[in-house]
Amino acid sequence: MGRTALVTGGSRGIGAAISKALKAEGYNVAASYAGNDEAAAKFTEETGIKTYKWDVGDYEASEAGIAQVEADLGPIEVVVANAGITWDGFFHKMTPEQWNKVIATNLTGVFNTVRPVWPGMRERKFGRVIVISSVNGQKGQAGQVNYAATKAGDIGIVRSLAQEGARAGITANAVCPGYIGTEMVRAIDEDVLNKHIIPQIPAGRLGEPEEIARCVTFLASDDAEFINGSTISANGAQFFA
Ligand code: NDP
Repeated sequence: MGRTALVTGGSRGIGAAISKALKAEGYNVAASYAGNDEAAAKFTEETGIKTYKWDVGDYEASEAGIAQVEADLGPIEVVVANAGITWDGFFHKMTPEQWNKVIATNLTGVFNTVRPVWPGMRERKFGRVIVISSVNGQKGQAGQVNYAATKAGDIGIVRSLAQEGARAGITANAVCPGYIGTEMVRAIDEDVLNKHIIPQIPAGRLGEPEEIARCVTFLASDDAEFINGSTISANGAQFFA
């Protein structure tokens, strides 16, 4: 019987690719999502991966959702905190609502996802925590003060968790994707994408969700046991941290 893995935001985009890749490696995968029931139902139909709906920004909802996953599939040994949103705007126009929503989902959401599974990982002396950060958390990005703050925060989270978890057999690492061709990025104006974003990427293209999924399956594997508190950048040479 394979290990159980939870992927938040695992029904679409990068998360869907991660869920599928982990399933292909033999994990029992649960994918959570926020509200797009149609996409989740389609994903389950196509992949056979069970989906669960809760808001990662809500601690009680996360605890309850995680308890349900564990009741269905067994203790979560691999957790991928992938759910995330953008709500961009220049800082002089950014509202407290824009700031708070992105912080709640992308940063507090990581706490809400990892905290409930952490005691079990400590007891069982095994765990893999993988947080999906971003190149924009490494380098900053105009128009994304809120988003960049959360993604830089992810790096602080995994570096701290790594130090707490290392003796308990738990690793915590971040993956920092560059621009990946998901709905989040395709929603950017095509002119902006072609004139301003793709020219910044030496590879000359967007990344594929599967390229991020392969980083995650490696970090989840036994082979990655000594990699702890690291960030893997997958950005087509756009930025070197
Ligand atoms: P998508 O918008 O394609 O998918 C987001 C997923 O997260 C969906 O499953 C969505 O659920 C879920 N989600 C969003 N908010 C919540 C919430 N409050 N609670 C639970 N689930 C939620 O995003 P991407 O695949 O593009 O991004 C995935 C991660 O990768 C994010 O953390 C993002 O910041 C990061 N990233 C993405 C990059 C890119 O280029 N795409 C680059 C660098 C980092 P639902 O379907 O219900 O909406």
